[in-house]
Amino acid sequence: MEAIRSLRVAWRQRGWSLLARALMQRMGFWLALSAGWLSYLLVVFGILVEGHSYWPRMLWGATVVALGLWLLGWVSPTLYLVVAFFVGVVNLSYGYIAHNWRVGALEYRLMTTLDSPWRERSEFIATYVVGSKFFWFLTSYVLFGVFLGVLARRQARGIPFRVRVAAGLGLLLLVGLGYWKWPLLEDYPLLRFGTAAHRVYKDYRVILTRRPRIRRLMARMPETPCPSPFTKVVFVLGESANRDFMHLYGFDMPTTPFLDSLEGKVYFKAISPVNQTLTSVPVILTPAKVDEFDRFYNEPSVLSYLRKCGYQVFWLSNQLRYSPYTSTVSSIADEADVVRFIFYELGEEYAGGYDENLMRILYPEDIVPGKRQVFFFHLLGSHFDWKQRYPPEAALISNPQNNVDHYINSIAYTDRVLERIFRYFAEQEDPFLFVYTPDHGEFVAPKEVGHAFATSYQEEYRIPLVFWASVESPRLQRLQQLVQDRIVNTETMDLVLLYLVGQREDPGLSFRPWVLSLGPPRVRNYYELPYITYQERP
Ligand SMILES: [Zn+2]
Repeated sequence: MEAIRSLRVAWRQRGWSLLARALMQRMGFWLALSAGWLSYLLVVFGILVEGHSYWPRMLWGATVVALGLWLLGWVSPTLYLVVAFFVGVVNLSYGYIAHNWRVGALEYRLMTTLDSPWRERSEFIATYVVGSKFFWFLTSYVLFGVFLGVLARRQARGIPFRVRVAAGLGLLLLVGLGYWKWPLLEDYPLLRFGTAAHRVYKDYRVILTRRPRIRRLMARMPETPCPSPFTKVVFVLGESANRDFMHLYGFDMPTTPFLDSLEGKVYFKAISPVNQTLTSVPVILTPAKVDEFDRFYNEPSVLSYLRKCGYQVFWLSNQLRYSPYTSTVSSIADEADVVRFIFYELGEEYAGGYDENLMRILYPEDIVPGKRQVFFFHLLGSHFDWKQRYPPEAALISNPQNNVDHYINSIAYTDRVLERIFRYFAEQEDPFLFVYTPDHGEFVAPKEVGHAFATSYQEEYRIPLVFWASVESPRLQRLQQLVQDRIVNTETMDLVLLYLVGQREDPGLSFRPWVLSLGPPRVRNYYELPYITYQERP
């Protein structure tokens, strides 16, 4: 009250210039200017100019953050400077991303930044940061906001204790209010960043921590040459493909003309070790087992061992790199020499597109005749939503009536994808090994569908396992003798692959009945699980 009265007196007696001078001697004035500058201005600019990444509702968040900063200034002007700088930098980063690339899914952006190798990062900084006028404009904007805060601090001579307490209480009240009215505030850049960072930490920690550990391990491991007869290995990792819908395994519609006609193939009835991607792919491709999942975190996958064997390894994927459902898979993909995701190679509009797009990220110059190379293709296969998994002209059932029809069509389309990949390599001179198996099965009924059920069904684990070799392979024949009619558990596919390329002498096949329902430690006996269509027995 006293402050306002003295300002009013100043205005009445000495006019504008003196009012301004009186204002400038007040900490609250500079604080308000600095807090408003740092939390508001860039958002207003964004709403006017970068409408794709800023929305008017962000002003709610800006108001709360500005008020919070102002109150904090009264608690401690020094702490204010630190926090205000942080707010400025986060708002700057957001504005910067918005200006250059549009923000989109922020956690993917964060993840890409954290996950990219140092060399790429320094190139990025050279191009987009040091050489960017907009970056320097934003930086001076933040520094000026902080400078206003420094001016405020200069005016802060002995803030009374009761003022500090009152401001502190006000701040707490504001935080409580913000928590209560969260949906109104969550779009604000600073808060969006906060939640995205939290999500990244929660969901992608495994990618971030596993990679350096595996790199260190591999650096110490000696080369292990293997007498492989195969110059090229093609491993197609499918998605949600239940063999009950494959003609090759007795389904009554022609869903697998290519696999049917493939002469000399070796194929087995198999079960996947888990009924969802995130856990299944690590068990299939790393030393992790159904009852020893933790080995995934500490041991390299078959990709690294193949590299030690003298192979150049490619990972070509039609799935998402950064998603809570595939982060463990990305961690494995990172062990390859060349990693390409359709999403990043071809653009976001190709996300969730048809698997044949994979042939567009396999470039002719990738294939070097005579050089040992392994190509992993990670399909979207029969991932729900099935009607989007195949081009209409490729439909086996041209007028699909229900989910089951769409699922059948997706299985038939995968056969066409397999054929395209196969033909591409068959045209080359190099002897090659072709492998197809999906991550898990799917249960498909007209009303209820899916996988990853907490009480899982046998159908979620029933998968195909197909091998084909362009040259005589005594080891592949040995696999066939060992398996006969038994059901293979793909939990040791890493070992089977290393056996086929001659890196190990033990075929490593698993016939165990153990599977994981959703994830560790929920170990179940496959043969005792409930089922939808029929019960499979050993
Ligand atoms: Zn899956």
